[in-house]
Amino acid sequence: MKSFNIEKIRKDFPILNQDVNDNTFVYLDSAATTQKPISVLDSIEKYNKSSNANIHRGAYALSIRATEMYDSARKKVKDFINAPYVESIIFTKNTTEALNLVAFSYALENVSRGDEILVLISEHHSNILPWQMVARKNNAKLKYIYLNDDYTIDMKDFKSKVTENTKIVTVAHISNVLGTINPIKEIIDYAHEKGAITIIDGAQAAPHTQVDIKKLNPDFYVFSGHKMLGPMGIGVLYGRRELLEKMSPFLSGGDMIEYVEEQSSTFAELPHKFEAGTQNVEAAVGLKRAIEYLEDVGLENIKKHEMKLTEYALKKMKEIPYITIYGTEDIDKRSSVISFNIDDVHPHDVATILDSYGIAIRAGHHCAQPLMKYLKINSTCRASFYIYNTLEEVDIFIEGLKNVRKWLGYGS
Ligand code: PMP
Repeated sequence: MKSFNIEKIRKDFPILNQDVNDNTFVYLDSAATTQKPISVLDSIEKYNKSSNANIHRGAYALSIRATEMYDSARKKVKDFINAPYVESIIFTKNTTEALNLVAFSYALENVSRGDEILVLISEHHSNILPWQMVARKNNAKLKYIYLNDDYTIDMKDFKSKVTENTKIVTVAHISNVLGTINPIKEIIDYAHEKGAITIIDGAQAAPHTQVDIKKLNPDFYVFSGHKMLGPMGIGVLYGRRELLEKMSPFLSGGDMIEYVEEQSSTFAELPHKFEAGTQNVEAAVGLKRAIEYLEDVGLENIKKHEMKLTEYALKKMKEIPYITIYGTEDIDKRSSVISFNIDDVHPHDVATILDSYGIAIRAGHHCAQPLMKYLKINSTCRASFYIYNTLEEVDIFIEGLKNVRKWLGYGS
């Protein structure tokens, strides 16, 4: 196993080395977006300084080089998630766009009146709204899978809700609120057995876990570059080749065509059919470098490190009597996202008070309002740890939490 050197890693992330509100900056919001190492920043700058050109359209050296760099980013993504074909990797803007692509290009054409789409209640809005749209337009039914008391997916409920009408089952690999790792292999296998296709939202998983498409065998798997040390503006849709081949384009225009006549057109081969217009080449270059960084450190090392922080934080938080944690106690079933509330204090106040100590956490509904309603709460605070966080930062966070109620005039 490769070695994990946190001091060395922190030096790679200059943004972390600053004071915020006169305190050492502690960034605990990687579930929203991650910071970028120097190598990623440099790769984008180098691309722009030496290779920038529009791809696929030029017979000249720079355009050919830019095209090669874009193609090699796609190959890197394919290898990273162990996908069977490079043509199955479609670059999108983000997870949201990837899910919308599947909703518009696959679901609208394959889901009919009376069919059912099954979604987990803890999904991010980006994995709910597209299905509401499909259900509304095609008179299909949107059904929800609910949770056990420990916030894990209720597999009995899931199995009872898959019927002969279920056309799509879609769940997050890891919840962005509860941090639960969902048993997606079991979900995918069961859905397939019953004849449904599966869509996995990997936005919170790809940065932290080895995703093995060949082993998991989902029909679609999506994630965002900006949550895995890469740039904003690039996301990935993996799709089963046979399905992608049959699907109509999502967006149409330049670059995704074969021939265009006055009244009709034919479309390019995969993956270009789904990549209309000028692509975000510099972001693809940055994403490739981000994956290389993750591979250099080793996903296993990263997971071990962030779970050490998570376990420590959870232990310390549980010692504070007025904190409620929303997530399973089983460390093997969770990720490095911790949602919590402090009695009598609004999450926004918690986040604002922590910010005064230089600590960045997120507060709100985390784009999961159906989950909030299900849990009978309006919002939570959320701290999330990643490759560059330290035990010392967890201590600073815990001290900050202990100060919140005092700050507002409560005795303890
Ligand atoms: N799904 C999950 C589980 C997420 O955590 C997020 C981002 N918070 C998204 C989807 C949407 O990602 P993006 O904004 O990059 O499209």
